[in-house]
Amino acid sequence: MRLGWLGDLARNSHSRLMNLSGSCASSEISPRADPEEERMRILLVEDEKKVASFIARALRENTYAVDTAETGEKALELATDITYDAILLDVRLPGLSGLQVCAEMRQQGVEVPILMLTARGLVEQRVEGLDAGADDYLTKPFALAELLARVRALVRRGLHSGNAKLKYADLDLDRHRRRATRGKETIRLTSKEFALLELFLLRAPELVTRSEIVEHVWDCHFDSETNLVEVYVNRLRQKIDQNHGAKLIHTVRGVGYRLGQQE
Ligand code: CA
Repeated sequence: MRLGWLGDLARNSHSRLMNLSGSCASSEISPRADPEEERMRILLVEDEKKVASFIARALRENTYAVDTAETGEKALELATDITYDAILLDVRLPGLSGLQVCAEMRQQGVEVPILMLTARGLVEQRVEGLDAGADDYLTKPFALAELLARVRALVRRGLHSGNAKLKYADLDLDRHRRRATRGKETIRLTSKEFALLELFLLRAPELVTRSEIVEHVWDCHFDSETNLVEVYVNRLRQKIDQNHGAKLIHTVRGVGYRLGQQE
């Protein structure tokens, strides 16, 4: 049944048949080739590994950055930490159901557009999903092209609603326009720098660990021995702090970083 559904998904899609196995191949672990690209970020909540892997891969091929969660609990943790452009939420999950997760997200003020993935023909589930605060639903099995069209529509909707501003001291981040300003200076950010600064601002003035940065700024875990985190933090630091006496980004030796007013 499961593989049959995946087969439908693949046949119905207009893209080539993708490898269903490796969810996080080594080629995907390092940052993308073009750091200037500005990708939309999607949270995919699906407990069936092969389905999750297939959908994530398709989304990545269509330039989205994708985080995945196998449980509703993990999804709640991520969605309250990070501002996604859209959330794809399977109804049938172990533990908290997709409906409960959706309702809880709305309860906690998460305003991101949510697309529920529901089982075939269960009209009640769809109604419940919309009642729980979902924006749209898609019935399994679905064609990949339709999923991508729905995601595009959701992301567009999200871009025009909700509260988009983060602020600390004289530093402001507009999450919709993906632009930062410090005082009167406008700072242009790449997508990785944007994701990093967003994470710092959401936590400020608390510590953000290296592993949290890896998890949030990159799609997959990469070799923690590399100094990529340092490279990106230093690049961001140059943009944010270089022309200012009061430094905002501080290193917490051996642990991570924090954005705050004093060392
Ligand atoms: Ca499921």
